[in-house]
Amino acid sequence: MTQAAPTRIALCCSHVEGATWEAQLRSALPDTAISTWPKADPEARCAIVWSPTQAFLDAHPALEVIFNMGAGVDALLRLQLPPQARIVRIEDGGMAVQMADYVCHAVLRHFREFDVYAGSAAAGQWAPRKPRFRQDFPVGVMGLGALGRRVAESVAAFDFPVLGWSQSPKQIEGVTCLHGADQFDRFLQGTRILVNMLPLTPDTQDIMRRDTLSRLLPGAYVINVARGAHLVEDDLLALLDSGHIAGATLDVTREEPLPAGHPFWQRREIALTPHIAAQTVVQEAIAQIAAKVQAGFDRADLPGAVDPSRGY
Ligand code: NDP
Repeated sequence: MTQAAPTRIALCCSHVEGATWEAQLRSALPDTAISTWPKADPEARCAIVWSPTQAFLDAHPALEVIFNMGAGVDALLRLQLPPQARIVRIEDGGMAVQMADYVCHAVLRHFREFDVYAGSAAAGQWAPRKPRFRQDFPVGVMGLGALGRRVAESVAAFDFPVLGWSQSPKQIEGVTCLHGADQFDRFLQGTRILVNMLPLTPDTQDIMRRDTLSRLLPGAYVINVARGAHLVEDDLLALLDSGHIAGATLDVTREEPLPAGHPFWQRREIALTPHIAAQTVVQEAIAQIAAKVQAGFDRADLPGAVDPSRGY
């Protein structure tokens, strides 16, 4: 009796703890032949990657499926991939709850003026302020995918009015769902706290710029947890100066790490974090990928497969 050849997986995780990933992958897929970059397996049809280099892709011309260890695939799509290769991304994998934590915290910190109270406390002042009403702070979530949907539902659970905007129509309890270019204006004009959960594509790059941000309700607040290139940074600064925008929480910036001397460091209205809103949970990501490999990584309807024509 002939034995089926083992699946061969090329692993590339140059920027993270490669040894941990490899150990977890071997235990999830014991019958798999794994080669860890910089060791190459030119015959591997399947790869698991985190920030791969072009050299890795060039050394693996037979790849049919590339599992990305994150949700965003914009950086991967900028590389030259083997023409037959499909990209499969992590769907949630423990990131949606982290995004919900992060965004709810940012919304509540702004709405309840916790930064103002922290300033008063530091100055030794007992200084109550008038209550604000959540009806005056509608939250608009751009992108209602694996992460954005959970974010919109979580914010709605705090009784804020919530609008959502996506490419195709959606139904989410407690969320007014709008879609497409035709309804973008209505979405912006009804939003005071804007949350960006879009993938970075040619259609969404620079989507937060002067003319779009100007259509938000006055005293708007911007929370960007997707990609830095969604936001035109000088336009945000100009609208902060004009008072139209009250502040921002930014987990991502156009250049990362944010360079020393960048004006964002000096703005007290901007809260910065170093791209940590939702981090890959290695165990869950490996389990998700292993299940897809076991179900047949060459099936046509592989869940999480990226549509290259849409860019996400
Ligand atoms: P999904 O692909 O699941 O969802 C994307 C959503 O955006 C969908 O609802 C889609 O609409 C919508 N969309 C895409 N293009 C457009 C457009 N042109 N107009 C309107 N809506 C559009 O992505 P995820 O939720 O998994 O992730 C979103 C992004 O979050 C990632 O691409 C990544 O950049 C970022 N991210 C950031 C992290 C961080 O730590 N800061 C961590 C993880 C991810 P439709 O549903 O109709 O297709």
